[in-house]
Amino acid sequence: MKRIGAHVSTAGGIENAPLKALAIGARAFALFTKNQRQWHAPPLTGRQIETFQRHLAEGGYRPQDILPHDGYLINLGHPEPSGWEKSLGAFIDELHRCESLGLPLLNFHPGSHLRQISEEESLDRIGEALNRALEATQGVTVVIENTAGQGSNLGYRLEQIAGLIQRVEDKSRVGVCLDTCHAFTSGYEIRTAEGYDHFFATFDRLVGFQYLRGMHLNDAKPDLGSRVDRHESLGKGRLGLELFRRIVNDARLEEIPLILETIDETLWPEEIRLLYGMVEGNTG
Ligand SMILES: [Zn+2]
Ligand SMILES: [Zn+2]
Repeated sequence: MKRIGAHVSTAGGIENAPLKALAIGARAFALFTKNQRQWHAPPLTGRQIETFQRHLAEGGYRPQDILPHDGYLINLGHPEPSGWEKSLGAFIDELHRCESLGLPLLNFHPGSHLRQISEEESLDRIGEALNRALEATQGVTVVIENTAGQGSNLGYRLEQIAGLIQRVEDKSRVGVCLDTCHAFTSGYEIRTAEGYDHFFATFDRLVGFQYLRGMHLNDAKPDLGSRVDRHESLGKGRLGLELFRRIVNDARLEEIPLILETIDETLWPEEIRLLYGMVEGNTG
């Protein structure tokens, strides 16, 4: 089964996120486990965790259907030791929050070199941070997201994602999340049948499908290769609906969270219905 959902808000308490997902017809969802624009957050209470898990079970969600996303301030590729240490500490805290919620995945953007060091040096710092973070925690897989390559953000080439996995010692706890908007704006032509097949064949050759833990389904406002990160609602950007029809009918993408991060959340129920409606042989 395809597990389609969206990145839901945690306003009013993280424990209510599964209810919000259920209300929009989602069979998977993403969330921030703390305020994504701040370094620190109060620890989750036992009651919050219990209620969250009860709501998950009531909604029929398995832990692997949830794809938590880390905060925006973290930069594991930071060129300066103080910024890198602060980011690593916050990243480990995010992993602990996932552990305490019983969630096995944490999605993150690789990091930025801030034009102070080379891409390879920054990738080395990210690799070192991931090894340190995995040593300090248990049971949570770090899920690397491909990026648009805006500014000095790394992870815009599949070779860079593969290079990061190579740097991680415990390969059982590293995975990948592919974002359609980012793939396209970073330069991969995924709109055509040939382009789609070529992209995923390249992904399989360089990275490997066994690492794929989720996808972000976003249409793109900017053009191919623009390296600008601006999402659009499905069918309203440059990607068009055929790409998403291919995705929901791709047997390699079963049972992983397929998450909308499209810009108009009032459209999410409609977008989820649209995607399920495009699954061939789906009569519901
Ligand atoms: Zn994304
Ligand atoms: Zn994005």
